[in-house]
This record gives sequence, C-alpha cells and structure tokens, in this order.
Amino acid sequence: MIAIDGPAGAGKSTIARSLARRLGFAYIDTGAMYRAVALWALKAGIDVDDPLRLEQLARQAQIEFTAGDNTVRLNGEDVTAAIRDALVTHAASKVAAMPGVRRAMRMEQRRIGAEQSVVMEGRDIGTVVFPDARVKIFLDANPQVRAGRRAAETGGVLDEIAREMAERDERDRTRAEAPLTQAPDAEYVDSTGLTPEQVEEAILKIVRERTSNGKGAH
Ligand code: C5P
Repeated sequence: MIAIDGPAGAGKSTIARSLARRLGFAYIDTGAMYRAVALWALKAGIDVDDPLRLEQLARQAQIEFTAGDNTVRLNGEDVTAAIRDALVTHAASKVAAMPGVRRAMRMEQRRIGAEQSVVMEGRDIGTVVFPDARVKIFLDANPQVRAGRRAAETGGVLDEIAREMAERDERDRTRAEAPLTQAPDAEYVDSTGLTPEQVEEAILKIVRERTSNGKGAH
C-alpha cells in the first residue's frame, strides 16, 4: 500500500498513476469515488445536503476502476468524464464532509486495499483509511501552481479555479471527519517547480527507503 494524500492540484493523480504502472500495483483515485456519489445524487435529483439519502447512495454505489484505460464506472456506466464537471467537483467536496458517506467509501477502500497491492490517493488515506501503510506521502505545492495546473488541464478560468480550489481545500482541511492533514509518519513532498518525472523520482526514492526494493510495499 502506497498512500498519497494532499490538496487538489498537487499532482497526486499523475504521480499515483505512473507509480502504480511502474510497480505493477493497482491505482485507486478515492476522489473519483466521492465524485461518483455526488454525480449520482445530482442526476437523481437528490439534495446534496441530505446526509441520510447520501449515505444510502454511497452504500449502493457500484464504483469500478479499469486499470488499462483508466476509466471509472458507476453502476456499470462510464462516468470518467462526467465526474470532472465543475458542478460535480463542488458537490463532491460537500458530500465528502458527511460521516456516513465517508464510512461507506472507507469500507470499500479498505476492501480494495486488502485484496491487492495499490497506490491509493486522496485526502485521508495515510491518516484514516490505512493508518498502518508503510509508505505515506503528503504531496503539496503552492496554491497558485496548483490552480494553474488545474486550469491548464480543464481549460477553465484561472481566477475562478483558484477561488473554487481554495474553498474546497478549506472545507477539506477544516471538516470534523477525516480532515486533510499530513500523517505524522508521512513524507512531505513539495511538487512546486518540479516536473512530474522529478516528483516520481523523489517518491520512488522514498518507496525504496521504506521498503527493501519497492515491491514489498503492499
Ligand atoms: O481528489 P479530487 O479533487 O478528485 O477529490 C474530490 C473531492 O473529494 C475533494 O475535494 C475532497 O473533498 C473529497 N475527497 C475526500 N477524501 C478523499 C478523496 C477526496 O474527502 N480521500
């Protein structure tokens, strides 16, 4: 288990995906799981401020990741693109603050992690979901750089993205349940000014240091 946590736009997905490919591990994007629940709620016309209904949805959601083409499926439907919509992004961060929703997601994440070797990224993987993970990374970058990366990815307006990201990070960091925070035994990596290759090298070094050869990181 390699746990990678950090705020939006720090480079978690890029790094986690290529690290998983390199080590032959599965890659699990836990943010995509919260996004899938939020998407389902929006589509079904369910109030995203209703914790009980949201917990029900979270428990019923069948979320699958396909490694080969990096698709995310919700109840059999390909939602890879739909979960990146700005409305879904906003709703996901609200839904993720609900303890019942987190409970359902955590159970599923632990089940997946118990079955195979994974690189799992999110906000609370090293702190709450897998507190005993041997390799924990807290990946960060300065807020302008993070917003700039997201703007380049989505083609959105930089100021709007920066504002939305700051609001989302604040909610993630201050919520009562599983807030975004660095685990005491996580290694802090700052990706500001680094290329994805440099970040990957830095993380691989940590993986090697914490395991004998990187393969023992289950
Ligand atoms: O990583 P991503 O930005 O796709 O995550 C979407 C939202 O899901 C985040 O804003 C955060 O509120 C929530 N999330 C979470 N815990 C995780 C992963 C994501 O609360 N482990």
